[in-house]
Amino acid sequence: MLTTVVGSFPHKLYSPSTFSEKIKNTLGQFDPYKKTIRDIVFDELKAGVDIVADGGVREMNMINYFSRYMPGMKIDGKTTVIKSKILPPRTDITINDINTACDAIWEYKRLHNIPDEEFKNKAVKGVVTGPSTMVYSSMIESFYKNKSDAVLDYAKAFNRELLAIEKKTPAVYIQIDEPILSTGIADLDVAKEAIDIMTEGVKIPIAVHSCGSVKDTYRYLAKFNVDMLDFEFAGNHDNFVTIKHNKSKFKDKIIGFGCVDSAIDQVDDKYRTRELMHKAVDVFGEDNLIFDPDCGLGKLSHDNAFRKLELMCNLNNEFDD
Ligand SMILES: [Zn+2]
Repeated sequence: MLTTVVGSFPHKLYSPSTFSEKIKNTLGQFDPYKKTIRDIVFDELKAGVDIVADGGVREMNMINYFSRYMPGMKIDGKTTVIKSKILPPRTDITINDINTACDAIWEYKRLHNIPDEEFKNKAVKGVVTGPSTMVYSSMIESFYKNKSDAVLDYAKAFNRELLAIEKKTPAVYIQIDEPILSTGIADLDVAKEAIDIMTEGVKIPIAVHSCGSVKDTYRYLAKFNVDMLDFEFAGNHDNFVTIKHNKSKFKDKIIGFGCVDSAIDQVDDKYRTRELMHKAVDVFGEDNLIFDPDCGLGKLSHDNAFRKLELMCNLNNEFDD
């Protein structure tokens, strides 16, 4: 199976240190996040992850990272406020970071003299926040009378970014994060329609990551027109039973199988994780699975986050033996 990450990873931020960085900083051209993204990708590769991501390091916030660029949305303090009709961004948002992450793959390979054969599954993906999560995490100040209209407008406006990811980066798929869906506050039919609108014309595979329990949402999620659904299975034991018993509803989907717990800052038990991964293969089959952590690991200690990825990748390698 391939392995991937969901998103965030513990990292440090840099200040300009070399002469050229200091000059660039004076000219407003120093990007402190570039080195951070490189660090994250190097860690992911060292742990053995196949499909890496940039870690979503900007703003430290999955809403403001995008809303900053969306006409109609403003950041007041730390909160995004919707002030007028949401329109397409005038600039690309994630493109540079995805390309920085991709460059880091090849730099790591070069630095460690890794043969092509060993790196044939390495790739980068794009990660964006979904329209429902964007709107339900924002305050509507004016223009929209209901959240659903704002969700659909956001989806329409953000389609530009997904098309740009496909055209301007080597991302092998795009993951849309929708943590709001499991909270029960978002309209799931609107969420589905919004994903259709946002992904219109995009040909690379699309994944939706939903955090938490899927007990009340799996029926809706199974009908999403996406290639992959990514859920938590290590920290949410009920999810395995729910999806297993409703396997036929997911037969046309790849399951992103969260197999290490992202909520506990302690490395998972090897035997328990191995058993969970074997159960996943028995139920869904090797061709229908991709392994990842339950959610982003950004809140954990660096050492434990790294060791969780390493454990997942080492156990995944056992399937080839
Ligand atoms: Zn999550």
